[in-house]
Parts: sequence; C-alpha cells; structure tokens
Amino acid sequence: MILDAGARPVMIGSEIYRGSSYGPKHPLAIPRVSTTLDLVRALGWLPAAAYRDSPRASPAELARFHHPDYVAALQRAEAAQSVTAEDRVRFHIGAHGNPVFREIFSRPATGAGGTLLAARLTRDGGVAYVPGGGTHHGRPDRASGFCYLNDAVLGLLAWCDAGIARILYIDIDAHHGDGVQDAFHDDPRVFTLSVHEDGRWPFTGGLADRAGGHARNIPVPAGFHDDEMRWLLHEAILPVVRQLRPEAIMLQCGADALEEDPLSRLSLSNNAHWAMVRALMGLAPRLIVLGGGGYNPWAVARCWAGVWAMLNGLTVPERLPPAAEAVLRALGWHRAAGRNPPEHWFTTLRDSPRRGVVRASVRRAAAEILRDLPGQVTAA
Ligand SMILES: [Zn+2]
Repeated sequence: MILDAGARPVMIGSEIYRGSSYGPKHPLAIPRVSTTLDLVRALGWLPAAAYRDSPRASPAELARFHHPDYVAALQRAEAAQSVTAEDRVRFHIGAHGNPVFREIFSRPATGAGGTLLAARLTRDGGVAYVPGGGTHHGRPDRASGFCYLNDAVLGLLAWCDAGIARILYIDIDAHHGDGVQDAFHDDPRVFTLSVHEDGRWPFTGGLADRAGGHARNIPVPAGFHDDEMRWLLHEAILPVVRQLRPEAIMLQCGADALEEDPLSRLSLSNNAHWAMVRALMGLAPRLIVLGGGGYNPWAVARCWAGVWAMLNGLTVPERLPPAAEAVLRALGWHRAAGRNPPEHWFTTLRDSPRRGVVRASVRRAAAEILRDLPGQVTAA
C-alpha cells in the first residue's frame, strides 16, 4: 500500500530492539526503540492502524548500497557470534566500537527494512517515522560509529529510484552525518545538511565542507542550546528548504545532542527536536523522520515519543499518566547518572527549555551556508 498525501503518519518499529544490546559496557547497552514504543502506547498515542512492523531487508535490498561481501560477513558474524581476524580488519566488525552482538545482522537489517518501507509508503506522499533508523555513519563496505548498515542512504536511494529527484536530508545528531553525505557526494538529487558538534568524532563536516556543492555542514560549539538551534532553524535550515523546494525531506533526529547525553557536550532540550519536526512538517509532500544517536535511555525515549506527538499534532501532557510513568521508572542505566535520576525523567516528556545568547559563530555559520545554494541567482 501507499499512503495518501493526507494520510495519518505511520510509525515503523520492531520488537527486535527489545532486549537487544551491544554489550553491557557499550553506550548502546540501553533500550531505546522499545521504550519509545511502550511510552507512546502507554499514552494512547499509537492505534494499531498507525503502526507497521519493520520487515528485515534482504541481502539483495542491502546490495543497493552495501557490498555483498560485507553483508555476508555480518551474517557470518551473527551465525558464529564471533569474527575472524580478517573480517575484523577488513569490515571493522568486532572493532572500533562496533561489537559482535546477538543481532549484529538482523537488527541493522530490520532498521534498514524499516526505512525502506518508509520510503515505499511515502512514494506518493505522506509521513513516516522510524525511530530504529538513522544509522548515518554506516559505510558501503564496513561498520562505523555503532552503525553496521546505512538505512538512511538506502531509504534515500529508494526515493531516488522512485523518480524523486529533489531530496533534502537534514541531520541534527550530535555527530556529523558523514556516511550519508559521502554516499551522495556525486549525486545532486540528494542535498545533505548536518548540524553537529564541532571537533567531535568523526571530525569531518567542517563549515567549508560542501561535498562538491550539494552538502552543507554547521559545526556548533559545546553548550549549543535551544535558542541557537532556533536561530539555525529560521536563519539557515528553513531558507535552505525554501530555496531547494524539496519533493521529499528526511530528518535524522538523533537524540545525542540533548544536554543529558553522555557522548556529546551539546545542551539542547527536547523542545529543539520537536520544534524542528514541527517546522519541517508540510514543507514537502514526503517526510521521513529517523532516530539516530542517543545514549541516555530516559532522554532518548522522552524525546522520540514527543516526536511522534508532534507528527500527529498531539498535546504533550505536563505530567505523564501513571502507565507512561511506569515505563520510565522501569528503566535502569549502568552509568553514574542512572543511579539517582531526577524526578522529571519519570514524570514528564517535555524538558525545560535551555535558553541563552546566540553566539557569533552560530550566526556566522548560518549566513555562510546560504551562500551559493544550488539554483540560487547571485547578484552580478
Ligand atoms: Zn550521534
């Protein structure tokens, strides 16, 4: 089936994430998608008709972007629950933060299947949300940055293959969306725009990096807050949308730029993510929202549940009903901050806004990325 342009948003999830872990010491030891689904269900926000179970992408589907040798290596690692020295060196499996874990092939293949389904469902218009997607570091022939496959690239390619030729990919994860940018380096159908922490891994995506013309990057300083993101939204991102007039927008909505995240030094509240989602809705006939990074289990689930509320125009209650609170109280976290979580992580979805002065570097970056956009008429 294909969604009507006016159809209700669809949530694409899977039970494969429940109980899945990259290992007890890994940042992705935590539940994220399962908690998000439990929360939106506890809030009464997910009627059965709005939910689709993610299919698992087949090796043939993955081969649209990934090398068959690499896909086969992931399948081997899952079957053996170990990796050969050769595969470790060649494919970065079992190395560089990409551990061998129980669902090392089937979980990322399910994420990829979810984003591929989202692209299919929105072919003629509509909105789809894949919180298990957003693995933006994945490379054609190797794992990178906790990402084994690149569902975002596969979804964008599926849109391209459906004849959609003006696509905007926006990435607000704390880390540069390097795998997506590089995948479309020579493909003007997909324009990529990434906002990420300056000086953080993978250390690419500088302000001057335009990937041959159809990418823009906004590295932002530590402490980057809601007012600065609002500035970028109105002074950089929305002007890019107006200039490019995309037929489709994909938003990677990683939650690791939140103040409470242990892997970045950015200071957004989830209001920033929700404002981004709201602002992008309706600006193109097709919208896919993906998850991404996010390593504090409470912060991620509260943020991503609220994203679903925004997509559906639902009001976020000031205090969560008991069933939703129980979902959050059931979480544990192996890090120090998990020993004594603040009460509002249990009782609310919405963070307090994080306000501040918009720093000069943020203003400068916003102005800089608007120069020489594709199709722009420059004054003589
Ligand atoms: Zn990230």
